Amino acid sequence: MNLLLIRLIIFAVLFFAGLKLYRMYREWKLDREGPQQAGDAEGNRMVRCSWCQVHLPEDDALRERGDWFCSSDHRDKYLAERKDEKKDAQQEEKKQEKDD
Ligand SMILES: [Zn+2]
Repeated sequence: MNLLLIRLIIFAVLFFAGLKLYRMYREWKLDREGPQQAGDAEGNRMVRCSWCQVHLPEDDALRERGDWFCSSDHRDKYLAERKDEKKDAQQEEKKQEKDD
């Protein structure tokens, strides 16, 4: 009789421990699998526009190469400025070559 009770308790403990582990595993998996699915589970995550620094829900934001933007307009401006920076750097390099 006592043995049966102990077995029942052990089974119950194992069951709840397994359940908890499973939930932890699911959360961990959602975190790893990307913000889209996790966002659906937890509601909207907030991200910041790389151009105007405004915060907005991930669902309304645009993503480009790891950066977030509030609109395609800001995305284009940001990318254009980055390109210009690259161009300027290249031109400076060329200038230096000429100076030598
Ligand atoms: Zn913006």
